Amino acid sequence: MKNISILGATGSIGISTLDVISRHPEKYNVFALSANSNWKKMEQLCAKYVPKFAVMANEEAAESLRKVAPTEVIVLQGEEALNDIASHQNTDFVMAAIVGSAGLSSTFAAANSGKRVMLANKESLVLGGNLLINASTDSGAELIPVDSEHSAIFQCLQGGEDGLNKIQLTASGGPFLTTPLAELDKVTPKQACNHPKWKMGQKISVDSATLMNKGLEVIEAHFLFQLSPSKIEVVIHPQSIIHSLVYFNDGSVLSQLGLPDMRSAISYALSYPSRQTSGVEALDLTKQSSLEFLLPDMDRFKCLGLAYDALEQGRSVPGTLNAANEVAVEAFLNKKIGFLDISKIIEKTIATTPISSLDTLASVVENDHLSRKIAQSLIKQSHS
Ligand code: NAD
Ligand code: MG
Repeated sequence: MKNISILGATGSIGISTLDVISRHPEKYNVFALSANSNWKKMEQLCAKYVPKFAVMANEEAAESLRKVAPTEVIVLQGEEALNDIASHQNTDFVMAAIVGSAGLSSTFAAANSGKRVMLANKESLVLGGNLLINASTDSGAELIPVDSEHSAIFQCLQGGEDGLNKIQLTASGGPFLTTPLAELDKVTPKQACNHPKWKMGQKISVDSATLMNKGLEVIEAHFLFQLSPSKIEVVIHPQSIIHSLVYFNDGSVLSQLGLPDMRSAISYALSYPSRQTSGVEALDLTKQSSLEFLLPDMDRFKCLGLAYDALEQGRSVPGTLNAANEVAVEAFLNKKIGFLDISKIIEKTIATTPISSLDTLASVVENDHLSRKIAQSLIKQSHS
C-alpha cells in the first residue's frame, strides 16, 4: 500500500489522480491533499477520501475547512505545511499538480526527501532545471513525468536510450490554430480556454493557445531527458492521439498513442514500472478519420520561439520567461491585456531583467519575484 500526497488536489490533474487511485484501493491510500482556496471542493474530497492531512494555502479557506472537515482530518495552512506533507516520512508518492511557480517549493521538498515525484508541475523544472534533477539524484527521488508528452517519451525510452537521435513533442495547436491572424488581438479568455482536445485548468489552457505550453515542455524535456535544444522538435498534431515521438539512428521511430485523457499518464506514474487500468477507453484507430502533422507557424506562435531562445540563453532566462508568462496570462484572464500582448510582455520582461546564474533554490525564487515585478510594471506602463 502506497501513501499518496496530492498537491493541487482540487485541480484538473488532482481530480484525475483521485479517479485513478479510486480504481485501485488495494494499492493506494490518500494520505494528504492540498489546495489553494477552494475549501468547499476540499470539503467534498475530505469527506470522500478522509486523508490524514488537508492543507489550504489560503488562511481563511483553512479556517472554513476546519469547521466542516471530518474530525479525523488534520487541517493545516500555508507553504510550510505544504512542504511538510510533501516530505512527510509516511508519504510514499507525491503528485506535484499545483499550477505555476506556487508549486516550486513543495516539489523541491518532495525531491529532497527521496519521494516518487509524479511531476505535472512543469514550471518547477523550467525554473529549477538542473537543481531539481540534482536534488532528485542526490536523495534517490524518482522524478516521473506526468505531462502526457514526457510520459510518452519516458515510456518509449524504457528499452534504453542507446541510438537516440532526437525527440518530437506533439502539440494540438490549441483553439487558434487556424484563426485568421488579424482576429487574434480580439480573442477572449473564454475562447482561449476552450481547448479542442483537452479539458484543463485555465492557465495551461491559455498556454496551449499561445503554444507557450509547448515551449515550457521543450525546456522540461531538456532537463528531464538531458537533450540539447536542437534534439527537441515540436510538431503540430491536432488530433492529440500520438503523444510524442522518439527517433533512433537506425531509422526507427517509437511513439506512444492513446485517447487524450491525462489518466493514462497519471496511472503510469503511479504504477511504473508496471501497468494498471486507468479508466481510459482503448483507442480505436479505425474510428480516427485522419492523423495530421504540421510544422508550427513561428509567426503565429511567438511564445514557442521565445521559449527556445530562453533555453539557449540558459541561466535565469527560462525562469524569467516563466514568471513573465504567469503574470501576462493572469492579466489576459482578467481582461487587462489582449491575447497578442502576452508574448510582447514576455519578450520585454526578458530584455529588461538582468541575467544571473541560479545556484540555489533561494536565487531561483528571487529571480522569479524580480521578473514578476518587472512584468507587472510593463503591463502598468502599457496602460498609461
Ligand atoms: P488547475 O488550475 O486545474 O489546478 C491547480 C491546482 O493548484 C488547484 O488544486 C489549486 O487549488 C492549486 N493551486 C493554485 N494556486 C495555488 C497556490 N498559490 N498555492 C497552492 N496551491 C495552489 O491546473 P491543472 O490543469 O490541474 O494543472 C496543474 C499542473 O499540471 C500545471 O503545472 C500544468 O501545467 C500541469 N499539467 C496539466 C495538465 C492538464 O491536463 N490539466 C496536463 C499536463 C500538465
Ligand atoms: Mg503536455
